[in-house]
Amino acid sequence: MSFWHKLFGTLMPDTFKDMEAESRLWMLQCPACGHEVSIWDLGGIRYKAYSKGKRMLRRCRGGCGKIKWHRVYKKEMKEPQASGTV
Ligand SMILES: [Zn+2]
Repeated sequence: MSFWHKLFGTLMPDTFKDMEAESRLWMLQCPACGHEVSIWDLGGIRYKAYSKGKRMLRRCRGGCGKIKWHRVYKKEMKEPQASGTV
């Protein structure tokens, strides 16, 4: 757990659950190799925020290890497709 996660988890445990859920949906994607990591996994929090076309300069933790402008985007919740007889 990062410092921020601990802090918010202690101060406002209820809100923290929402923060975690939302932060996990925010992804950084490396333009070079396509590796993705969530803001949450980086120890960050993104909550009640909206952004489009935002980019963050950081080193890729995936395959390429290069410092690139990573694309920031929010994953959409996807319901699993029901298959079978309809
Ligand atoms: Zn990469």
